[in-house]
Amino acid sequence: MSATADLNGTRDASTTAHLVRLGKKHVTNGLGRLTDGIMSRGEGSYVEYEDGRRLLDFTSGIGVTSLGHCHPKVSKAAADQCLTLVHAQCSIAFHKPYLQLVERLLPMMPHPSLDSFFFWNSGSEAVEAAIKLARVATGRQHIICMQGGYHGRTFGAMAVTKSKTIYSEGVFPVMPGVFTMPYPYWHQHNLPPSTPAEVLVNQSLYQLELLLAQQTAPKDTAAIIVEPLLGEGGYVPAPPAFLHGLREVCDAHGILLIADEVQSGFARTGKYFMVEHSGVRPDIMVIAKGLANGFPLSGVVSRKPLTDHLKPGTMGGTYAGNAVSCAAAVAVADAFKEENILENVKERSHELRNSLEALRSDPDVAPYVLDVRGEGLMLAVEFTSPDTRVAGALAKADSPPGLATRVVHACIERGLLILTTSAYEVVRFIPPLNISKHDLKHGAEIFGEAVRAV
Ligand code: PLP
Repeated sequence: MSATADLNGTRDASTTAHLVRLGKKHVTNGLGRLTDGIMSRGEGSYVEYEDGRRLLDFTSGIGVTSLGHCHPKVSKAAADQCLTLVHAQCSIAFHKPYLQLVERLLPMMPHPSLDSFFFWNSGSEAVEAAIKLARVATGRQHIICMQGGYHGRTFGAMAVTKSKTIYSEGVFPVMPGVFTMPYPYWHQHNLPPSTPAEVLVNQSLYQLELLLAQQTAPKDTAAIIVEPLLGEGGYVPAPPAFLHGLREVCDAHGILLIADEVQSGFARTGKYFMVEHSGVRPDIMVIAKGLANGFPLSGVVSRKPLTDHLKPGTMGGTYAGNAVSCAAAVAVADAFKEENILENVKERSHELRNSLEALRSDPDVAPYVLDVRGEGLMLAVEFTSPDTRVAGALAKADSPPGLATRVVHACIERGLLILTTSAYEVVRFIPPLNISKHDLKHGAEIFGEAVRAV
């Protein structure tokens, strides 16, 4: 019997690990699976399972397959590249798709000063590289990150991650020289969500000043790293005034501003990059997820004068900027234009937001809906208990599943694949950016039904 024919998934109730039976052996993938069963096919906005289920996918592999599953032009570009040149180590020679990709990306950048590109495979690797670049370029060591921020699971990325400290449990100290400041939202749990953004922003920036005065002197601080729209930390857009405030502090002290656009980049928010909504220019930008529609590719974009500080060999990796992934990314960039993706995101975002907001006028549901927020097709609903109505409630691993998790499971039963932000009572919507009006409406209706049922 072949291993595939005998592939079977079982949930191990005692841990979050899951077991996969391969022949006579059990192996664990160490991860929790949202759906029992094996995903076998993806087409556009839908995924199919071996047991015959077909689900509308509002996860896009956590913001990766932004043009839908197996986009014909992207898959063809990758397949053609597979038959031409699969790998060329970039320290030996550039390959054509690498250069074509830089050509496509340059006009998409939020600021003309962002003209230097390095490519990697994962978001975490690119975050590591951004930190390294900031340290080398400034000759300083310290990094300031945000409460609620998420940047990945390698050591440096984990050190600046504050939304899921569970990842770094048991491996402390992860990286010295990291300081945390409040992101406008998560530090103000006791304030109602209607608190004016100005108050939240002023509090956060005041805390930053204290941090610079008391814990890390400006002359020791290389960079501030921020997600302009918190992803894993609950889909919270940074108020524009906050990003402008960070820019001012950075300019005043020679600190570099790193924007992590791994999840919010590539048209997800209705502009190519989230920083465009505020007009704030980062010094370094980290990109990944939507870049190659499922092929592993990430990058760091920065200003040439910063990269002049790097010695040969400081950046790079064997698989960095893989030719097949770059060819796929070129096709993605072309499809964004050909399919008028930015326009579709704006229209669909408006429709989705309206249908989520409508839940607030349903008297049975309204008390449980604390917030509807986000930007473009990176939207979320935060649930709450009607007694407390406190924001930022943590979903606890050892208690019965919270409302958000129950809603997600009710959606899956009804044919909609959707996710929470794991740690919080937040359900997020990350449909493909080219989703049709019909599919979006269908998904929103399923969500509404699921919420009422739960
Ligand atoms: N940065 C942000 C904002 C992310 O959302 C993620 C992943 O979700 C990462 C970095 C890490 O990317 P990867 O999982 O590809 O390492």
